[in-house]
Amino acid sequence: MAKDYYTVLGVEKKASKDEIKKAFRKLAHTYHPDKKGGDEVKFKEASEAYSVLSDDKKRAEYDSYGRVFSGAGGGPQGGFDPSQFSGGFDGFNVNVEDIFGDISEMFGGRGARSHRGRDISIDIEISFKESVFGVTRTVLVSKNSECSRCNGNGAEPNTKTKTCPTCNGKGQVVEQRRSPFGVFQSAAVCSTCHGRKTVPEKPCTTCKGHGIEHRQEELSIAIPAGIDNGQMIRMTGAGEAVTGGASGDLYIKIHIQPHKNFRKEGFNLVTELPVKITDTLIGAEYKLETLDGTVTVKVPPLNSTDEILRVKGKGVPIEGVGSKRRGDLLIRIKVEFPKKLSTDAKKLLEKLKEEGV
Ligand SMILES: [Zn+2]
Ligand SMILES: [Zn+2]
Repeated sequence: MAKDYYTVLGVEKKASKDEIKKAFRKLAHTYHPDKKGGDEVKFKEASEAYSVLSDDKKRAEYDSYGRVFSGAGGGPQGGFDPSQFSGGFDGFNVNVEDIFGDISEMFGGRGARSHRGRDISIDIEISFKESVFGVTRTVLVSKNSECSRCNGNGAEPNTKTKTCPTCNGKGQVVEQRRSPFGVFQSAAVCSTCHGRKTVPEKPCTTCKGHGIEHRQEELSIAIPAGIDNGQMIRMTGAGEAVTGGASGDLYIKIHIQPHKNFRKEGFNLVTELPVKITDTLIGAEYKLETLDGTVTVKVPPLNSTDEILRVKGKGVPIEGVGSKRRGDLLIRIKVEFPKKLSTDAKKLLEKLKEEGV
């Protein structure tokens, strides 16, 4: 468990947003890595604490559970995290851009921001059944990707890269700046190597040494069980690649085709079963097509016309793919009235009436 965020920033638990911001700015002044005597570890610690405590939703989660859930998944390999759906996508990731932007402003200069590839968003339509049980979809995305010939390093296969002569392998060009707080070093990404620190001796013929190639990439997207219409999946790093920077993210918006017989209510599946009026009185067995195949439903004699039968464990899986726990299947009884009564049927009904039914 990381250090307590309130302790890191040196504020009380009930500190206002303003107090939190002030405390962070003060620490950032002291520990900013660009500053002489700065401390990168402490700076990052403070940044992390600030990113959580400055966000109402994350702060509430942190206060209640001692940690922040949004954004726990989605590593660089590109996974998904169901808890991120329909909520803040940046999750737990410290918004370094914002914080550095803020600090750089304070110091009157701009740090060397690592640039990042563009995010991409796509839409996927799935069937109702796939939304209940989850599905893996393969999609073709046309985007800037790492060059397939040089694997992104920009050099022809079997040739070497050399230290960038412009930045001497630092990846950035540094200049000194004076400010009211003292002398600061301000850095810009090297325009020759784009921050990669090396340049190819012989540039790759496919990407001309940029390491980036526009092509169609096949991506496998795991859509979790129980996903709702309009929910979003984020695959970290599956967006567009950029020379010398991190790739953007891929956002997948899910569209679910409605089912003619079923709908979801939380983890329960709801359907209707037409039952003959006589069966509602004396009970019967009915065959019902479910998402799990045909099941036999025992309809008992009913007490009212709006009864619901419950088949336990035949609903939506809980806790995603592979889970054994499921919600229930709720069967709403729909009483079927006869369209036409034969003379015999009428006679029998008259008899029933005499019986007091
Ligand atoms: Zn290449
Ligand atoms: Zn360079």
